[in-house]
Amino acid sequence: MSDVVRTTAKDGSQVEFIYKDPAQGAIKDVYFAPDKSYVVAFFRNPLDPYGKERIENIVGKYRHDLFEQEGGEYWKEIFCWPEKIVEYDGRMGLVVPAYEKCYFFDSEPLKGAEKEGKWFASAKNFNKFVPPDEKGSLLSFLKICIRLSRGVRRLHAAGLAHSDLSYKNCLIDPKTGSACIIDVDGLVVPGLFPPDVLGTPDFMAPEVVATAYGPKEKRELPKRTTDLHALAVLIYQYLLHRHPLRGGKIHSTDSEVQERLEMGEKALFVEHPTDASNRPKVGKNDGVYLPWIDAARIPYKTTGPYLTELFNRAFVDGLHNPSLRPSAGEWEDALVRTTDLVLPCENPNCVMKWFVFDNKKKAVCPYCGNPYKKQAPVFDFYITNDGASYRPERRRMTIFSGQSLYPWHVDRMTVPNEKLSEKDLERVGYFAFHNNAWMFVNQRLPDLKNLSTGELIPPGKGVTLTQNLQLLLSGKKTGRIVNVSIANS
Ligand SMILES: [Zn+2]
Repeated sequence: MSDVVRTTAKDGSQVEFIYKDPAQGAIKDVYFAPDKSYVVAFFRNPLDPYGKERIENIVGKYRHDLFEQEGGEYWKEIFCWPEKIVEYDGRMGLVVPAYEKCYFFDSEPLKGAEKEGKWFASAKNFNKFVPPDEKGSLLSFLKICIRLSRGVRRLHAAGLAHSDLSYKNCLIDPKTGSACIIDVDGLVVPGLFPPDVLGTPDFMAPEVVATAYGPKEKRELPKRTTDLHALAVLIYQYLLHRHPLRGGKIHSTDSEVQERLEMGEKALFVEHPTDASNRPKVGKNDGVYLPWIDAARIPYKTTGPYLTELFNRAFVDGLHNPSLRPSAGEWEDALVRTTDLVLPCENPNCVMKWFVFDNKKKAVCPYCGNPYKKQAPVFDFYITNDGASYRPERRRMTIFSGQSLYPWHVDRMTVPNEKLSEKDLERVGYFAFHNNAWMFVNQRLPDLKNLSTGELIPPGKGVTLTQNLQLLLSGKKTGRIVNVSIANS
């Protein structure tokens, strides 16, 4: 144990680490605590006064603002945030919590490796290397994207920008739907702490790439709007396992020029609705990467209407116009609404296990081609301002065995985010297929009413779902009504 060093952190607490064989990051050497509950990451090169002030703020003020508030515990799961500063052997280091166990692969060929997002971002890695039991499902990837969007939304709300959001700086676990943003010590505070790096190639916004080679004073630097480009790329990659801008268009035979144009000035969405010139090409030997590399087979529209709209804003309208990019909160909302629009694939070997219902007459899983044979009742939600006239909300819910209704479906003042109370996480009712018909069973809704008959449906009772049945979910002005349609029949 002679390699164990004990020192005092700047906050006065004791820190121990094994000062031997560091893991090497891009700019830091990383040493484990003897009990492996945290690591100490030392900057290899001395920090300038700005760098020092930045990490002091990250460990101090920003950490305090995020974590030492009501609900702060929630963010500890989403961010792996530096907790202390140590100086030792003439170097400055950060004490950072060790990654949760779920972020290490359990099975071969990747056993023991960190679940960096890159393993799940491309068809090559996802199809070839990720073990089948680590592939998760469409629902777990939606959950991961919700968590990442929520984390970015929180950073932006605090006036911060991540500046180097990429699949390298996110750990994800599709098995549990967990996600964690790591390496936050490069945070950008507009006007105070400029970025250290321009970003990671696949994730740099086109305006950053396009100006990176020009005069310094004209360079576009990472900031909130470039985070929003990176977030959109991450979401696209996790849901479709391909890159939104790396397609078949050749700009130059010089690979450096090609990269600069493809990701910068001439960046073009591979699925641009009217310009097909950058569609991914599927070669003869690419079968192993299917279906993901074939955008005609799994178009981005398979992610459903809400995400399609945001992908259009991110990669068509906002690709070269940063102010039009969707905010992290908009992604979060669209992802949450999309999780209400899925159906379970009935093929036990389906890799995604769920698919977004596309409202077609006969639902088919786009990932494996399996037809969905059951009826699929759909709730269309309506909201009101005066408690008298209702208007449709862009929110629907597909119904299948095991589907539940939650407080955030009932009242629009309850938003499914990190602020939900324990009680709001409990379902208020569920759906079951009984005697050849779909039923909604009320568990906790005191006002549930069949608007077609005027009859109250008290907790403990159920109602059969029929075409155009209308239900009042809550008598409050902020409550919703639903209209039932029986789809896929
Ligand atoms: Zn399927």
